[in-house]
Amino acid sequence: MTDPGALHRSLDLDAYWMPLTSSRAFKQAPRLVVAAKDMHFTTADGRQVLDGLATLWCVNAGHCRPRIAAAIARQAATLDFSSSYSVGHPLAFEAARRVVGLAPEGFGQVFFTNSGSEAVETALKIALAYHRLKGEATRTRFVGRERGFHGASFGGISVGGVPAYRKAFAAGLLPGTDHLRHTQDLEARAFVRGEAASGAELADELEHRIIPLHDASNIAAVIVEPVAGAGGVLVPPRGYLRRLREICDRHGILLIFDEVITGFGRLGRPFASQFFGVTPDLIVFAKGVTSGTVPMGGVLVKEAIYRAFLEAAAGGVELAHGYTYSGHPLAAAAALATLDTYAEERLFDRTNELAAYFEDGVHSLKGLPNVVDCRNLQLIGAVELRPRPGAPGARATDVFARCWDRGVFVRPIGDALAFCPPLIVEKQHLDALFGVVAEAISEVA
Ligand code: PLP
Repeated sequence: MTDPGALHRSLDLDAYWMPLTSSRAFKQAPRLVVAAKDMHFTTADGRQVLDGLATLWCVNAGHCRPRIAAAIARQAATLDFSSSYSVGHPLAFEAARRVVGLAPEGFGQVFFTNSGSEAVETALKIALAYHRLKGEATRTRFVGRERGFHGASFGGISVGGVPAYRKAFAAGLLPGTDHLRHTQDLEARAFVRGEAASGAELADELEHRIIPLHDASNIAAVIVEPVAGAGGVLVPPRGYLRRLREICDRHGILLIFDEVITGFGRLGRPFASQFFGVTPDLIVFAKGVTSGTVPMGGVLVKEAIYRAFLEAAAGGVELAHGYTYSGHPLAAAAALATLDTYAEERLFDRTNELAAYFEDGVHSLKGLPNVVDCRNLQLIGAVELRPRPGAPGARATDVFARCWDRGVFVRPIGDALAFCPPLIVEKQHLDALFGVVAEAISEVA
């Protein structure tokens, strides 16, 4: 072990304003990571920490996989960057083709971005522009869902339903949004394994309240995460997503699945859409496409939507939208090597193979002090703790800190702790993960 604290003492932490972090707390007791390999981080003081969240729900292939690292290094030395505006490079086309190859039937194109937030923004823009070119320019409203998370842009926080992300920026929220109720009901549906048998009717709110209120002719799209992630890991009741699809179809509303977390094998299929057997019109993805190695996101677009743009544009630019780094060569190289790794190691199948063991691990936490819910679907899950009176989130934050000190990384979300391991996880890692979480919950009680 190296001198614990040596790096902490020598590093000037002041200049970096960290995202979504209590800077004061961090700078008093920094959690510094200096390396990672497969399932583990190495901390600045030489400890190994098990990654129980694929870092931020991204590192599906595990850390520092040689093939992906080599592909990025090779690309950086061959073509570091090129414009994607009116000039192309082969890897971006190849990466798009490969992502389309994983998508449900009917999807033909990918619009690349650099993040999930940009991909959400892109999907919302495509929806608006699509209705306009189809002669339905009044369709300008978006419907999101409470506790949905769609990134940090103004579009994303407007359709998103996590109050903390919206509060300080209320003045900038898009005006034309509404939200479905979230699907959590701890009285009716606590400790459910997988999808709950009841609750699909929550989708009917779209047809019974929201459409009558705004009129379908004013609604462009509904956007949901198939399984809500950063809002606390909420698994949809069985049949819920299918009902949303049917209602959208009846009223000419586009359905957008934000698969930034659920994409690339989290549910044992390339996309949650295939797991649930429900096909949206646009699929937003990011994170797992490069296993977190190089920032990349994108929107999978139904062929028919793309063709409508081509026909309407008559030769000009068909979508006035894009990012300097859309389809960046390093990201494209990382995506190709990542998709090869998923395929060769059959990592999406591993989700299916380990799902039952993971489920038992999540539910082994039932009965510990203050545990009010355990929930899971395939390789995503959460345990929810009773909030301390007057201090929401404090209990889970304490558990998170103890887990870190004992060598396990999980993420607190309110009073829940989320689990989302890399798909290379082994049973022994799951034993360690849930063992440490159980100890920490008992101690913090
Ligand atoms: N959408 C979902 C479902 C997410 O979970 C996230 C991030 O966690 C985003 C969008 C935003 O992605 P990014 O942080 O890459 O902008």
